This record gives sequence, structure tokens and C-alpha cells, in this order.
Amino acid sequence: IIPVITIDGPSASGKGTVAQMVAQKLAYHYLDSGALYRLVALVAIRSNTDCANESDIADIASHLNATFDGSSILLNGEDVSDAIRSEQCSKLASIIAGQPAVRAALLQRQCAFRQSPGLVTDGRDMGSAVFPDASLKIFLTASAEERARRRYKQLIEKGINANMQSILQDIYERDTRDSNRDISPLKQQVDTKLLDTTFLSIEEAVNEVLRLHNA
Ligand code: C5P
Repeated sequence: IIPVITIDGPSASGKGTVAQMVAQKLAYHYLDSGALYRLVALVAIRSNTDCANESDIADIASHLNATFDGSSILLNGEDVSDAIRSEQCSKLASIIAGQPAVRAALLQRQCAFRQSPGLVTDGRDMGSAVFPDASLKIFLTASAEERARRRYKQLIEKGINANMQSILQDIYERDTRDSNRDISPLKQQVDTKLLDTTFLSIEEAVNEVLRLHNA
């Protein structure tokens, strides 16, 4: 059986960075499941599809022509790595992620990432819904204020104008939406290990995941 390490948690918790580094250290494959929801949102925006129309959005999800090429994410061959990170896309991704038909349409695609020698995934429901038999399940989080500070720093470093208060507001809104939806809500499961990175560096978080994996 091919090992899977699932890293779930709220937005801006650093789970993407930690998951990628763990995958690299172990020479495992990596699945950024949030990118799939973001890609669906991007196609919906570009095609002017009404996001309230669940079957149309699910249709986009089933026909998504996406490729993960290293750290680049391609949509029909076009590099959309930056486009899917826009505020508009982030918000819409979290809205359509509450639609059961959309989640169902993305399920098989996510399972297909499980390839030898192993997989590290990041998302909200990796351990609970997509890979319930994962070998290690982590719930990675940090305080909302710390997550906002990290997001702010990231944007400033990229030369993008940022406002701490609106970032924090956005984090609260997405946490609420992700935690309160009917399907696969974000919450710590009983079989996950809690990793609070509020006072941890990325390296410390990565080492802790590797320690748990080897334990
Ligand atoms: O992780 P990321 O912020 O890129 O995810 C974008 C959105 O996709 C999240 O706000 C969440 O609503 C949704 N998502 C999800 N399940 C996953 C991954 C992401 O519902 N496994």
C-alpha cells in the first residue's frame, strides 16, 4: 500500500509550504488539493458561469484540463500559478468548495495522485474524506493573527500592497465558511495529530512531520 501523509488545516497556516518540503525530503509526490478548487473557480470566472449553478460548476470540475508541472500549475497549457491566487479566485474557490457535486467531481482526480513511492497532500479534507487510510494525518494550524502576519509579509515581499486588517478579516471569513459548510467541513479529526505552528519556524514544522512519519 502506497503511503500518504495528509496535512489539513485552515488557509495561510503554512501547510502548503510544509507539505511541499516534506514531499521533497521524502522524494514523495505532492498534491495541492486547494489548487483544484482554485482552478475550478478560475474557469468559472473566465467563462462567466454563475457560481450558484452547482451542476455547471461540477461540470467544469469534471472537465478540468489541469497539469501540475513542478511548482507551476497549468490550465489548458497556460501557466495560471499566479492567477489562481488572486483574492477573487480565493474567495470563489471557498464558495464552490461547499458544493457536494463539485467535491464529488474532484475526488477521483485527487486519488490518482497516490503513486509510488508515496504522496504528501495538503487541503481541508485530505485525511477525512479523500485519503481516510493515510499513514499519517496532520492538522496544521496557527493563530489567525499569526496567519494574517505571514500572509501580509508574503505580499509585501512580492511588492504587493497589503492591508493587515483586511487580510485578517478575509482569514476569519474563509475559516468560518470552510468550518461551517455541510460537506467535509474543516475540523480537527480524532485520528489527526495537531501541529500548531504559531511559534514554530517552517523547518521546525517540517522536522516534526518527518519525526511523526518515522515514529
Ligand atoms: O488551500 P487553499 O487556500 O488553496 O484552498 C482554497 C479553497 O479551496 C479553500 O478556502 C477551501 O474552501 C477549498 N478547499 C477545500 N478542500 C480542500 C482544499 C481546498 O474545500 N481539500
